[in-house]
Amino acid sequence: MKPPEFDYIVATDCDTALAALARAGGEAKILAGGQSLMPMLNFRLLHPSILVDINRIPGLGFIEETPDSIRIGALTRHFQLETSSLIAQHFPVLSCAVGHVGHLAIRNRGTIGGSLSHADPAAELPMMAVLLDATLRIVSAAGSRTVAARDFFLDAMTVDLIGTELLTEIVLPKLPAQTGWGFEEIVRRHGDFALAGAAALLDVGAGNVVRRAALALCGVATLPVRVEAAEARLIGQPLDSTLIRSAAAAAWLVEPVSDIHAGAEYRRHLAQVLSARALTDAARRAGVDVPSVV
Ligand SMILES: Cc1cc2nc3c(=O)[nH]c(=O)nc-3n(C[C@H](O)[C@H](O)[C@H](O)COP(=O)(O)OP(=O)(O)OC[C@H]3O[C@@H](n4cnc5c(N)ncnc54)[C@H](O)[C@@H]3O)c2cc1C
Repeated sequence: MKPPEFDYIVATDCDTALAALARAGGEAKILAGGQSLMPMLNFRLLHPSILVDINRIPGLGFIEETPDSIRIGALTRHFQLETSSLIAQHFPVLSCAVGHVGHLAIRNRGTIGGSLSHADPAAELPMMAVLLDATLRIVSAAGSRTVAARDFFLDAMTVDLIGTELLTEIVLPKLPAQTGWGFEEIVRRHGDFALAGAAALLDVGAGNVVRRAALALCGVATLPVRVEAAEARLIGQPLDSTLIRSAAAAAWLVEPVSDIHAGAEYRRHLAQVLSARALTDAARRAGVDVPSVV
């Protein structure tokens, strides 16, 4: 199908983009990589009055290190994240996860800002933002604000952004050295959206006691989730396969939806199995030799 008619503006700086968004009074759509927006326009699921193309705004695509964080510009392409040595050094779980987004052609164009704003419940990057306690910087003609990723995702394809706002930056706080990580997902075919995915971080101290744990899931709810009950079971306990099995079982609490790709019960099963596998990999990468539990 062809998209409905719309006006089109190429913004070459943020002020121009924000002014166009304000003028359209919420009826505009921002065009970043176009990998989700264009299909939605072609299916006529959206009818914006104008597209504000942000691809020519300099300074929106970057990966920079500060003493305690990595800052990522919203226009950073998936492929840039995948091949960044800074990301590989500080967030190998993110390097791994972004390599599972669609196919290379999609990763060449798609952006982190577009993926987070689009908020597909099965998408990898929203799960990463929640796992890594990202903070998002949002600007509009009226000013700027920051929001924690865990508060940004409200429902399927619904985020804390209004039509006059632009997501400009994602800030990831650095992790303790030696943090172990795991990433697992199930897809029907290479490049498909995941039926379900899990990602884990474990920081382990003396006696293999877990100092810090994070477990996030995608595809098993209408938004990416942190499994706080699992994290609570892990923290302060010596890490072994029994503890991992018990923590992963907490993923049973998720409330998946059934769709044409998979039923809710199967997704709930995947949530537990993938959690166990991701936690096992995270334990091993943190230096704790645990046997596989599933
Ligand atoms: C065949 C195919 C397979 C795919 N497989 C996967 C997959 O496995 N996993 C996955 O995660 N994704 C997948 N995707 C989606 C892909 O990751 C997209 O790149 C991503 O969802 C959107 O990023 P984009 O830059 O293309 O955004 P766009 O399509 O340009 O925009 C998406 C939405 O976000 C808004 N937006 C964009 N940038 C901003 C911003 N800076 N501030 C505010 N709003 C903004 C737009 O207005 C629009 O509503 C797939 C896409 C295709 C076509």
